[in-house]
Amino acid sequence: MFKSLLLFGSLMFSLAASANCELSISANDAMQFSSKSLEVDKSCNSVKLTLTHTGQLPINIMGHNWVLSASDDVQELAIAGMQSGVDNRYVPQNDPRVLAATEVVGGGASTTIEFSIEQLSADKSYTFFCSFPGHFAVMQGDFKLI
Ligand code: ZN
Repeated sequence: MFKSLLLFGSLMFSLAASANCELSISANDAMQFSSKSLEVDKSCNSVKLTLTHTGQLPINIMGHNWVLSASDDVQELAIAGMQSGVDNRYVPQNDPRVLAATEVVGGGASTTIEFSIEQLSADKSYTFFCSFPGHFAVMQGDFKLI
């Protein structure tokens, strides 16, 4: 009895330790994300992501957001995002290629989103990027389901 409880306890612990469903990333005035790669557990139903702008520049000069798409869609989405303009936070509206997108934040601000990853596959390649005009080429990284 005691042994099985112990086993159960360690199993619960390992499940809790392996499920990584919350992410945080920061971006700065030097147009850089704090991470080039993010990983979440594929068993997560949804992922909670917090983007923090650790710089001081205002949103209209050095705004940042966090957009997730299939890696093949990044370039076209970044261009479409730029054309969508500031009122649409540089994200094309109702575009199924956008898997997740935060608000745009300026220096000192942060934003959190929660999004489903149930339609994502561990076999496909995903990329996160900032769609603020001119940023995506340097502000991007890998998003992996593990
Ligand atoms: Zn940016």
